[in-house]
Amino acid sequence: MSELPQEDPQQRWKPAWAASEARIRENAGHTAVRTAVPRNSRVSKLDADLLDDELTDMLREPVSKAMSLLRPQLVDKHRLEIDTAIKAVLFWLSAGSASRRATYGQSLQNLTYETTGHRDVLRRLRMFGALSIGGAYGWSKLTSYMAANGWADAPQNSIRRKIWRVLDRLERVTRVATLVNFLAFVATGQYKTLIERVLGLRLVFARPQVAHSVSFEFLNRQLVWHAFTEFVMFALPLVNPARARRWAVRNARAVLGLPAVTIDPVVAALPEHICAICHSVEAASTSVSPDSAAGMFADPSESCAAVNPYVAKCGHRYCYVCIKTRMIAEADECTCLRCGQHVDRIWQQI
Ligand SMILES: [Zn+2]
Ligand SMILES: [Zn+2]
Repeated sequence: MSELPQEDPQQRWKPAWAASEARIRENAGHTAVRTAVPRNSRVSKLDADLLDDELTDMLREPVSKAMSLLRPQLVDKHRLEIDTAIKAVLFWLSAGSASRRATYGQSLQNLTYETTGHRDVLRRLRMFGALSIGGAYGWSKLTSYMAANGWADAPQNSIRRKIWRVLDRLERVTRVATLVNFLAFVATGQYKTLIERVLGLRLVFARPQVAHSVSFEFLNRQLVWHAFTEFVMFALPLVNPARARRWAVRNARAVLGLPAVTIDPVVAALPEHICAICHSVEAASTSVSPDSAAGMFADPSESCAAVNPYVAKCGHRYCYVCIKTRMIAEADECTCLRCGQHVDRIWQQI
């Protein structure tokens, strides 16, 4: 029998630690470096723009409402000015402020404009705001002015035509450059707009250690509700509400131990040749306007004699039209008004 080494069991981990310590520390160093570098998220940058647009939309409504109280035509006439003013104020309060340096949408997406290496980043940001918001406003004003005054149709050598041609070319060049810039953005994830590229404004994560995660809980809920609504819209025309109600009433009565249908004793006691359906219709109308009905029918029951009489299984008599209409309307829920028996077939009374 071999002897076990005489060593303290509490100290056994020491040689193992000594052997692997260097490797563990090295690996820890690797993982730390890897998590510290955030992914360059293009989606976050595009989403930030959408959020900013949504915010402008939300603010436009109360501003428009307030203005329409003063003069309703002001809102339509100055829509562009209202939008520009809202955007300018939002930009000034968010990206244009020294403490934030990001629009509200960018803040929500954990993004900010890079400040390291640029002492004058705030100045550039303000320039960016002036160019993107003011520039867009000026450009659309200029183009609509030219269109309204027919600069495009001015004589060939006139100064207006020449200016129009230069600006038209400039617009085309800008559009192509914007497209190329966007493709470059998709490839590299930097400089979403042309102005950002020209000014060298880079968007980075404000807190790199915070993982960018999107909660899908709201989306899932929305999807479930959407699917449910779609299903209800599809199923609703297939359900006959009156029939469903009768089915529910019948089952409820069965559960409570009540008879399937209640029989009106007046209807049950009617003479044989009277159609109970005609009688109940007439009773309903006379109860609404008793004066006129009393004048029209000396004996209301006699006017309800079954026309083209048909009998049900129970032997009770109805007009053909009355009972057939009821059978079609109530389908397999149709019952005799006098005895409550189920009516599925009728025979002509000879
Ligand atoms: Zn009838
Ligand atoms: Zn009957």
